Amino acid sequence: MKQDFLIDSFGRRISYLRISLTEACNFKCVYCLPSGGILSSPSGRYLKLDEIARFVALAAGLGIEKVRLTGGEPLLRPDIVEIVRALKQIDGIRDLSITTNGSRLELFLKPLREAGLDRINISLDSIDPERFRRITGSRNSGAVLGAALSALRAGFPVKINAVALRGLNEDELLGMGRLAEGNALEVRFLEFMPLCGENWSPEYFLPISEVRALMDRHFDLVEEVGGEDDTARVFRIRGGAGKIGFIASLTESFCDRCSRVRMTADGKIRPCLFSEEEYAVGHLLRAGAPDEEIRAALRLAVKMKPKGNEFRGNPYRADSRFGVAAGEYPLIHKVGG
Ligand code: SAM
Ligand code: SF4
Repeated sequence: MKQDFLIDSFGRRISYLRISLTEACNFKCVYCLPSGGILSSPSGRYLKLDEIARFVALAAGLGIEKVRLTGGEPLLRPDIVEIVRALKQIDGIRDLSITTNGSRLELFLKPLREAGLDRINISLDSIDPERFRRITGSRNSGAVLGAALSALRAGFPVKINAVALRGLNEDELLGMGRLAEGNALEVRFLEFMPLCGENWSPEYFLPISEVRALMDRHFDLVEEVGGEDDTARVFRIRGGAGKIGFIASLTESFCDRCSRVRMTADGKIRPCLFSEEEYAVGHLLRAGAPDEEIRAALRLAVKMKPKGNEFRGNPYRADSRFGVAAGEYPLIHKVGG
């Protein structure tokens, strides 16, 4: 039978689905939350295990091959292991991963491994406990780093996501690079994206080119070509154990290669991380609507995928998006105390 793929209006094939399992989180990262906190949906509105599994099975029939579970904090879902087990059994899903803040990861390593999880991304922006507390609101930095190393020992490929923040963790980025030199994991540096309402500020924006120059001064980096990743430029550290990745979401947008769509915890398909448009399928899944209606919603969301995000090549456009006057950035007040 001929495979029916999801192709957007610009000819990009969509094969990667990111599913938020919950909006709840036990951290309060300054770059993630708007200053007023998030208005999360009641947890009863979150998609249930069987609804998620049905949606992923239908999406796999349309060529989705990779699924990443995220949030909020996905390890706060009591049924996380069952979700992983169910998705891993779906034909066509060849890569199932999770992005977590790592705070509860030690508890779940063994069951997640047994359930078939393929890979883990762990967010860690600072190794210094006090700095970590100021960025995330949590005292758990040691536990997060420990969990990352345990995940490696448990046999998972591990990536560490570090958002590069000017003046906040800039002086620690080299230390994060050294983590990749000494351990067989990948440390990925991310540009600070305007996802947090008025908390985005150009004062904290650190272009990846600066991080790259810093790493180049200290490591002999050899670029990996033809890798799986559609977002990061990844480099092996010559003479080191691991790799370093650079994700320049704003300055060198990868929209042309984007293969993703997103599903929110309450069942809305988002064509792009930055788009405000959403296509609701939660109610269809809940009502047991016919497969073709759910496929149609997914096809429509893919068709409406924008060509690129509005910041391409000019991250400072994000500033005008929120209409915040220079010097009045709430983030400063939040992390200053
Ligand atoms: N709670 C989990 C975690 O922190 O890994 C999963 C959800 S979190 C939203 C997913 C990733 O998005 C994390 O690696 C986090 O660092 C990143 N992130 C969140 N807000 C961001 C922002 N404004 N700019 C860049 N990355 C951001
Ligand atoms: Fe929570 Fe992750 Fe957002 Fe931090 S980045 S507040 S850990 S969802």
